[in-house]
Amino acid sequence: MFFIMGISQGKKKLDYSKTVICNQCGSYGRYEVFMLYSYLSLFFIPLFKWNRRYYVQMSCCNTVYELDPETGRSLFAGKQVDIRESDLTLIQTGRRENSWSKKRCSACGYETTEDFEFCPKCGSRFE
Ligand SMILES: [Zn+2]
Ligand SMILES: [Zn+2]
Repeated sequence: MFFIMGISQGKKKLDYSKTVICNQCGSYGRYEVFMLYSYLSLFFIPLFKWNRRYYVQMSCCNTVYELDPETGRSLFAGKQVDIRESDLTLIQTGRRENSWSKKRCSACGYETTEDFEFCPKCGSRFE
């Protein structure tokens, strides 16, 4: 008997939309709620999921918060819940596009704050 088993990471976007004034960048943004989970699959069929974590990403500047798991579970169950700021733990501060985002060339290490598509030093494409 031959089994193909695997543990994978999944990501699911939850159906939630709320427009707020972002306290990171000060513009209007939407909360986008994601659930990340690990799952075990057998013959590519997911058997069970565990380690569910919920995250909120701001649409304006991509700031990422971890969402209170209770609130996340309620959202996942389809309940009408309101995400409050007290449910959110800041994980990663986002940035507005082309303000001070730094690009680094993976080929030669050249750094620039300009919005180049190709490295001005060696001509490699920025990712
Ligand atoms: Zn923002
Ligand atoms: Zn380069």
